[in-house]
Amino acid sequence: MVYDTENIFAKIIGGEIPCEKVYEGKHVLAFHDIAPQAPVHILVIPKGQYTSLNDFSEKASDEEASELIRVLGRLSRDFNIVESGYRILANHGKNAHQEVPHFHVHLLGGRDLGGIVSHGG
Ligand code: 5GP
Repeated sequence: MVYDTENIFAKIIGGEIPCEKVYEGKHVLAFHDIAPQAPVHILVIPKGQYTSLNDFSEKASDEEASELIRVLGRLSRDFNIVESGYRILANHGKNAHQEVPHFHVHLLGGRDLGGIVSHGG
């Protein structure tokens, strides 16, 4: 998958499109999902151009990877969802219905999230 520099998250990183930011560091940005599926629904993204976890896990530096994972833990604490429980989720490709072709991790919590996958046809 070739990285599409016009994708919506590239525009958010570039400041062309606004977001409700909850964290910004050297390599990582986090903001509220525009269509939240739970009381807490945050997207954590690298600032670098990676299409999905496949790309990120192959090409990102250790510094980028560690910032991303630590931010997920930090936000789960900041948003008080550690005790009640939360889910992190990253979609890759067609079968997972990835909509935005820039790697992002969903952090979901604040309600019972049900089973891990939908069995819908
Ligand atoms: P995916 O299906 O690719 O894993 O998830 C993409 C997510 O991005 C969806 O949950 C969708 O609501 C969110 N999203 C799409 N466009 C925007 C946007 O412009 N701003 C924000 N904050 N979230 C967006």
